[in-house]
Amino acid sequence: MQTQMQETIPVLDLAPGIDALWDEINRAIHDVLRSGQFIMGPTVQAFEEEVAAYLGTRHAVGVNSGTDALVIALRALGIGPGDEVITTPFTFFATAEAVSLLGAEPVFVDVDPATFNLDLEKLEAAVTPRTKAILPVHLFGRPVAMPRLLDVAERHGLAVVEDCAQSFGARIGGRMTGTLGQFGAYSFFPSKNLGAYGDGGLLITDDDRLAETARMLRTHGSKKKYYNEVCGYNSRLDALQAAVLRVKLPHIDVYNAGRRAVARRYSEAMAEVDGLVVPEVVDGHVFHQYTVRITNGRRDAMQAALKEQGVETMVYYPVPCHQLPIYADRHLHLPIAENLSQEVLSLPIWPQMSLGVQERVIDAVLAAGTSSC
Ligand SMILES: *Cc1c(COP(=O)(O)O)cnc(C)c1O
Repeated sequence: MQTQMQETIPVLDLAPGIDALWDEINRAIHDVLRSGQFIMGPTVQAFEEEVAAYLGTRHAVGVNSGTDALVIALRALGIGPGDEVITTPFTFFATAEAVSLLGAEPVFVDVDPATFNLDLEKLEAAVTPRTKAILPVHLFGRPVAMPRLLDVAERHGLAVVEDCAQSFGARIGGRMTGTLGQFGAYSFFPSKNLGAYGDGGLLITDDDRLAETARMLRTHGSKKKYYNEVCGYNSRLDALQAAVLRVKLPHIDVYNAGRRAVARRYSEAMAEVDGLVVPEVVDGHVFHQYTVRITNGRRDAMQAALKEQGVETMVYYPVPCHQLPIYADRHLHLPIAENLSQEVLSLPIWPQMSLGVQERVIDAVLAAGTSSC
């Protein structure tokens, strides 16, 4: 009763992050407007330099979106028709879509139910003579165990592109995700850990030649204006978005620490709920999502009960990629991913979430947990 009078808790609230930096963001946008440099120019270049330094990489190439970052990375590696790219079925469609857009085949390997990431035990069996690359996703901000994956890649001469759309600032063994493969591909979609106020993306690499190819592909396949060498893309990072990102970048570690603190609190408070599996708060995890599993077949009931108490939740992802219409004719059966799509529930999380709001989410989950038994 009492909860119905309280405000609904969204899965994500961007407002406190915007409010905290309101003046700085307005000034940064104002400066771009005054400069008249909307496409590329000094703001984009400054952001590329700053983000490269933060991530610990030689080259950062700003692009239009995370999807374009994946497409351009795979294309720069020469991947095209007839090639296979091993990836996860339990991700946002853009991961597989990037492979398919180039005419290559995404080969789906099932995931590990504890990490939601590629099951590295099953990786090697999926390698064929046509395999060109592995495309892991650090899903929900949890880093993939890269040393093991790189070992398989190295033994078979495969390239590695890391989908870091959900893992900005996530570290593995002291290094940033995205710096371990040939390319790291990031998204600045507003809801991501480092979000712009529109679309944006980034490619990072330590390889000078790959960086040059990526830069060429993002501007119509030209190194020099009007001397187009190949068909590329119109995929530049917008200067206004770069300006916003420059304001937000210095705060990213604080934002990610905020997410981790919420996750730690949730996992402690919800550890004993029957039929509920909480995520592990491992080192380097940046909790793009805080995703639990409801293993007693009552996920949808739990989601409805939380909604009743004013707590919004999301299911990432209700259909694993291999069951989406464009891949369904392969009739693949990947039981863990299929099961997860029925069990997962992502709870509200954002860096500035107040203790009171966290408490309301926890109370709602505990109440829904006992009432559904
Ligand atoms: C968001 C996302 C993308 C795509 O990023 P956009 O910027 O929206 O194009 C790709 N992969 C994953 C895992 C994502 O979460």
